[in-house]
Amino acid sequence: MLSNIYHQPYSRQWYVSFPIKADRIPPLYHEVSEPTGIDLGVSTFATLSDGTVYQLPYSLKKAKIKLGKLQYRNRNKQLGHRKLGIKASKNAQKFYRNQAKKHADIAQGRRDFLQKTTTEISQKYAHIRIEDLNVSGMVANHKLASSVVDSGFYEFRRFLTYKSPIYGTVVEVVDRWYPSSKTCSSCGHVQPMPLQARVFVCEACGNNCNRDLNAAINLASVSKNRVRMASPELTPVE
Ligand SMILES: [Zn+2]
Repeated sequence: MLSNIYHQPYSRQWYVSFPIKADRIPPLYHEVSEPTGIDLGVSTFATLSDGTVYQLPYSLKKAKIKLGKLQYRNRNKQLGHRKLGIKASKNAQKFYRNQAKKHADIAQGRRDFLQKTTTEISQKYAHIRIEDLNVSGMVANHKLASSVVDSGFYEFRRFLTYKSPIYGTVVEVVDRWYPSSKTCSSCGHVQPMPLQARVFVCEACGNNCNRDLNAAINLASVSKNRVRMASPELTPVE
């Protein structure tokens, strides 16, 4: 029944996956049944409308910095050049192997974090609302690009969506044009909100709220006509 086996070049790692048969028992009861908004961000990974926050593990951030330093120190190493007849040095080979392994470790750590987080959320909250991320548009913006791709917003949404039938959750996507960060979660006033501002201070009612929490509350209470069911554009590898 072996279904998949593959090898990561340079990293000397082999992966084997195979299907197993197991009954999935959805929990009978979610602790929170009212709509819960989730705001995804760069400084705080996920902020929920009830105030719960999920932070990317520090070890992952540290591993990324270490990899960056390693790459910078070895920036002149070449893995050979077949056309020019240059052979890769032993040290260059070592560096590329090491680099590939670190990349694989970071990816694995991020997937692990995302899997745990989305499972925890799916078990506790019955009704989840997330932003419709214009991921391709954000990636085109170079300032946001690496943080969006690295932090796994897209995967987060995909995991929540494919777990919804498993845990019996409702996952909804709020339309892309809804100004969740620019709207006051207390009175509904809409005002400009600079990207770097961490606190929303309402010009109309004086409400003072953390930027991400304000957005999450807005996602939770948005009107039904701005919401649609999330669909998994991609299915997980079985
Ligand atoms: Zn207000």
